[in-house]
Amino acid sequence: MMYDLVILGGGPGGYGAAEYAARLGLGVALVERDRLGGTCLNRGCVPTKAYLHTAEAVREASAFAPGLPAQFDRAAMLKSKNETVDTLVKGIGLLMKAGKVAVYEGQGTLLNAESPFSVQVMRRDGASETLQGRAVLIATGSEPSRLPLPGCDNPALWTSDDLLGEAGAQPFQSLLIVGGGVIGVEMACVYARLGVAVTVVEAEKRCLPMMDLEISRSAEALLKGLGVTVLTDAHLERIDSDALHGGFTATYRKDNASGSAWAERALMATGRRPVTDGLLGEGVSLAMNRRAIAVDEHFRTSIAGVYAIGDVNGVFQLAHAAHAQGVASVSHFAGVISPINPSLVPSCVYTAPEIASVGLTQEEAKARGLEVVVGKALTTQNARTLIEGLGRGFIKLLFDRPTRKLVGAQLFCGRATDMIGELTVAIENGLTAEALLRPLRPHPTFEESITDAVLSAKFD
Ligand code: FAD
Repeated sequence: MMYDLVILGGGPGGYGAAEYAARLGLGVALVERDRLGGTCLNRGCVPTKAYLHTAEAVREASAFAPGLPAQFDRAAMLKSKNETVDTLVKGIGLLMKAGKVAVYEGQGTLLNAESPFSVQVMRRDGASETLQGRAVLIATGSEPSRLPLPGCDNPALWTSDDLLGEAGAQPFQSLLIVGGGVIGVEMACVYARLGVAVTVVEAEKRCLPMMDLEISRSAEALLKGLGVTVLTDAHLERIDSDALHGGFTATYRKDNASGSAWAERALMATGRRPVTDGLLGEGVSLAMNRRAIAVDEHFRTSIAGVYAIGDVNGVFQLAHAAHAQGVASVSHFAGVISPINPSLVPSCVYTAPEIASVGLTQEEAKARGLEVVVGKALTTQNARTLIEGLGRGFIKLLFDRPTRKLVGAQLFCGRATDMIGELTVAIENGLTAEALLRPLRPHPTFEESITDAVLSAKFD
């Protein structure tokens, strides 16, 4: 069967590209070896946010019902998450049907290196068929990676795939999390709110090291406030199963001394690696950037007519980035202008208060030699923050001094992950401090702090 575009991988990158390509009138095949929705829907964004939502509801309610975390039914949390995921996965199937995208279940392998391309689809039952495509889009995503340290390959150590599956409902009372990045911090919040004793071991000097310094510090304070033991600058050396007490002992080096931490269960939240196994047939090769598929600014690979988007190209590891790259690469293939700019990517952490960031941080602006004016509002006097008991937070806006345009925003406050959209629109459209002040923001909302932050920016 001949298609304009054959897409490998049905995550947010792949299904988003398929939907958009079909809207442009292209004939599209989408090959998925597991479940539509990919990591994002099945074992990533959606499951974690479902757990965070449930755990936050427990935390809020336990102020009025103190016995709640102890009585909490983790199996019910898992069931509710599964229902949400199933509804969304089903929805993607319907979306593909509506767009007349041909969905093939099986492992896709690119068999040749020039158009028309041949893609073999190997089904689970061993049967296979071959599709032809004028172009191919690789969107095969990523999978959890483990540190190459003694004991870390023990399958009894969980990854996020395990914890977001059946394992997450087990009745453990303590959890060791190796890695204080987004996944580590979010899972620490979930289980700490459910009354689990959580320890985070992070090699960098701070959790969320890729974020604004003040956000990192606030996140760490938040974790500590939930009772999490946070060990930063702690370099893991090994993890051993504890034969005597059960559970796991992590041995690490911190401040030139050896330390150890024990927990009943352990989660490896130490990053993800691109998925390329079985992707290329014999004699077919792609230029790589370490383990990721190397791409140019249009997401073209080293084979003309083959694009690679999303986690597999290692540019970003975010669902909306994968989706935007899919739309941009399909636009390039179809010869139309992309409706989305895939390079301005907001990032979010769904703690409470939430964290969101877009554009430059103060550290990045300084490194680029940009002269910026910072407008900052604390949320301590924001009515909505007090009503929802969210404690100290802030909104920090960075303006380019000469043009007064917004160039960056860092938020640590209620609904930050919703508000970052407004600020992304502002950066994308070159809005100035004055333009940001003009629209009325309703009361009482978290958004009012955006007005306060703009007002506090002193240009003279
Ligand atoms: P994936 O979603 O990984 O999808 C790839 C698909 O390709 C998979 O379904 C796989 O089965 C399939 N596949 C692989 N090889 C083949 C093959 N050869 N043939 C056919 N099919 C194949 N991002 C956010 O933006 N927000 C969040 O809140 C967020 N939270 C996360 C929480 C966790 C715990 C994790 C693990 C990730 C989270 N992410 C989040 C990241 C997000 O899930 C990924 O960035 C996103 O799913 C990447 O999309 P993708 O389409 O590139 O790949």
